[in-house]
Amino acid sequence: MELFYRDTRGGDKELTASQAILQGLSESGGLFVPKTFPKLDKSLKELSEMDYRGVAYEVMKLFFTDFTKEELLACINGAYDAKFDTEEIAPLVYADHAYYLELFHGATIAFKDMALSILPHLLTTSAKKNNRKEEIVILTATSGDTGKAALAGFANVPGTRIIVFYPKHGVSRIQELQMVTQKGDNTSVIGVTGNFDDCQTGVKKMFGDKKLREDMAGKGMTFSSANSINIGRLIPQVAYYVFAYTRLLADGRIQEGDAINYVVPTGNFGNILACLYAKKIGLPVAKMICASNENKVLYDFFKTGTYDIRRDFILTNSPSMDILISSNLERLIYHSAGDDAAKNASLMKQLQTEGLYTITDDMKAAMADFIPGFATEADTAEEIHTLYDRTGYVIDTHTAVASSVYRRYRAESGDNTETVIVSTASPFKFARSVMSAVNGKDDTRDDFEIIDDLAKTANVTEPPAITEIRTSPVRHERVCETADMQKEVRSLLGLPAMEV
Ligand SMILES: *Cc1c(COP(=O)(O)O)cnc(C)c1O
Repeated sequence: MELFYRDTRGGDKELTASQAILQGLSESGGLFVPKTFPKLDKSLKELSEMDYRGVAYEVMKLFFTDFTKEELLACINGAYDAKFDTEEIAPLVYADHAYYLELFHGATIAFKDMALSILPHLLTTSAKKNNRKEEIVILTATSGDTGKAALAGFANVPGTRIIVFYPKHGVSRIQELQMVTQKGDNTSVIGVTGNFDDCQTGVKKMFGDKKLREDMAGKGMTFSSANSINIGRLIPQVAYYVFAYTRLLADGRIQEGDAINYVVPTGNFGNILACLYAKKIGLPVAKMICASNENKVLYDFFKTGTYDIRRDFILTNSPSMDILISSNLERLIYHSAGDDAAKNASLMKQLQTEGLYTITDDMKAAMADFIPGFATEADTAEEIHTLYDRTGYVIDTHTAVASSVYRRYRAESGDNTETVIVSTASPFKFARSVMSAVNGKDDTRDDFEIIDDLAKTANVTEPPAITEIRTSPVRHERVCETADMQKEVRSLLGLPAMEV
């Protein structure tokens, strides 16, 4: 049966999966969501006998119903291959009461690789299926990790170009180096003198800009998005929730049907939304613990029912979670209102005009499986330190936010359900913050000295992604102000300058 996608902000239009992937964001500014939720048609036991690619196929075939089996398998096999440094793709590591699902074994050592290594395949296949001949321009805002993962995914992919905007002063040194050394003639990287929300808002504005779209069409180009608002990014993420469960089942840690908890370090709400989608297709999920850093808009939202962005933006040591406007929350809002696009659209409008909205009691009740928590900068550092002391296992700052939130949740609730903590980045990506936490004092050494020390401390080899940036030359040096983002895009694409 064909599954169609709808716009969270209305209209009767129904898109196929490939059309929704191509378009990314709807013209109304809404996101595409599946009209209904299919169910896994293999038992968890059967899935536990498959490898990552097998599980990924079983999940994605339910959502991408207009792809043939051959097309989907080609996408999956092209993505989850030797670019990952472990055959398991997403290993589970047990440490101190929980399982850490390591999603950082791809090309850029953050979990964004899980989706961005497959998105270019899904996108180019979608273009072919729909007889689209335009050059696809990927426009992306990044809080640090998406950018590099998207660049790596799209570099030198025929028929595509990619432009990445990142907050010039809002990413780690390693993150920045990873991006500005990116190779590939179709790649551009621009630092913005604003924060991530500024970058994201600027990109969204360009998507909604008719004149820009027309000028691009005139040059045979069309926009698409690699941000987690694209359904082609969201759905591949559903796979690893199912995969983690089936590994616990295969290892006899749980019985088929037992519900387990997932703890997700959250920023744009894409990762944890994929967990909800996994639950909706039949995965036994108990609690979804939504872990925030000091930018705890989501924590306050789940506690009070009011989403309020009228607050200061805090730069933390978990920069990929420094977000006030969590785009993917819109999908949860829409579903919790009973797939009510009008209701959702009015709340989103209110957010835009007043900086806040409040959901109804019924909507709040529909979100009862989400447990919010947050960790301060001190909590996060202490968690890295404690876990290392007890087990020798070293986690990154984002994972530590989740781990800290879980430690407190478990102590306060007494909930001993088996729990998977989603580990979203390699500690090497945030080596300075990680080693400062391990040693209990600020680390002033050179980044690469710290990395050498981390490798010794954690007793793991440096990932190739780090070795690469030690010597790669900087290829991208553009910096612009938030207001000039479109000007930069026009200049890069050879489009006429904006009228003033
Ligand atoms: C992007 C990112 C997150 C946040 O994920 P969302 O899907 O935006 O909620 C957490 N940790 C790391 C390391 C990330 O790169």
